[in-house]
Amino acid sequence: MAIVKLNKVGKSYGNGAVMAVEDVNITIGDGEFMVLLGPSGCGKSTTLRMIAGLESITEGELSIDGERMNAVPAKNRDIAMVFQSYALYPHMSVRDNLGFGLKRRQTDKAVVKKRVEEVAASIGLTEYLDRKPHALSGGQRQRVALGRAIVRDPKVFLFDEPLSNLDASLRVSTRAELVRLHRELGATMIYVTHDQVEAMTMGDRVCIMSHGEVAQIGKPMDVYLNPASTFVASFLGNPPMNLMPATVGEGVIETGSGTLAYTGFAPGIEITLGLRPEDLRPTTNAAEAVISGRVSSLESLGAETLVHVETNAEKPVILRDGRITPARIDDIIHLTCDPEMARFFDVDTGRAITPSGDKT
Ligand code: ADP
Ligand code: MG
Repeated sequence: MAIVKLNKVGKSYGNGAVMAVEDVNITIGDGEFMVLLGPSGCGKSTTLRMIAGLESITEGELSIDGERMNAVPAKNRDIAMVFQSYALYPHMSVRDNLGFGLKRRQTDKAVVKKRVEEVAASIGLTEYLDRKPHALSGGQRQRVALGRAIVRDPKVFLFDEPLSNLDASLRVSTRAELVRLHRELGATMIYVTHDQVEAMTMGDRVCIMSHGEVAQIGKPMDVYLNPASTFVASFLGNPPMNLMPATVGEGVIETGSGTLAYTGFAPGIEITLGLRPEDLRPTTNAAEAVISGRVSSLESLGAETLVHVETNAEKPVILRDGRITPARIDDIIHLTCDPEMARFFDVDTGRAITPSGDKT
């Protein structure tokens, strides 16, 4: 069992001069894979390091299984952490690197050997057990770092951008391997990344952070479909959600170059309209256009084409079209979408709004 709970946790540096993390409330369930996602500097590592006990907690409370951890030293928290830099012992073989933590706890030699070999087999390191780290590839070294954490059988695994030093194809395979390991071990895992693809594909839930605060927590697809703010809408998705100013009219929302049939908001108010690039589709019927504009550029990505459409809004609207698009630069095109897929945000606060006033 390992439920990790952060209650109003905050961290300041320099006697409160810098608030690195503020009022973070997260409960990570037993066996859950929670991803902390956000841009560089938003407080992910600081949050993780407070959980690990590598950083003191300035405010609030951290508990594991209901037990307050604020003052418990790192080594007594039963947590293992894997970093971006592998930090292996260079003079020790893979076998000794894997077994080091257990040996230090005076574990029986035969037990260490068995455990190390078990773990090595489970993550494909058996044939490298007698090598030194310098004779391993980056991916293999990262696997040793991971193995070292698994060998200890901790209550909680913490990962701080563990894949960012790996090349693209290795990142994809290691990602899948971590997901498999999580399923097999059933352990509580907290994983920090700035990579939204890792967050979407690995997390049971994602906690998106911005400027030291939690912006939204939810299942990856729920957060993707219903971002709580324009920040989340524009952080998730590549390309991100199109955001544009719009005005509510009678039964419609006016974008300035077209209209979306929609009732509920009070006519006259200004809102920010959000439309995902994959929810837009071209139409030849100008009367049903939500957006009309001039094609300003085309990006062919192989599987799809991103069509940039200039409107009266500040930024071009991006349409995710098929591999082959009929659109040509300088064409005037009309885009429509299912009103159900439209999202709305408060112009001033950036918070998601719905006609009923429900918080999303
Ligand atoms: P992330 O991991 O999301 O990139 P960090 O948690 O490392 O972000 O940092 C969050 C904020 O705290 C940043 O603004 C960073 O500059 C600041 N910070 C981190 N460590 C220190 C420190 N030791 N002293 C002062 N400020 C720090
Ligand atoms: Mg970091």
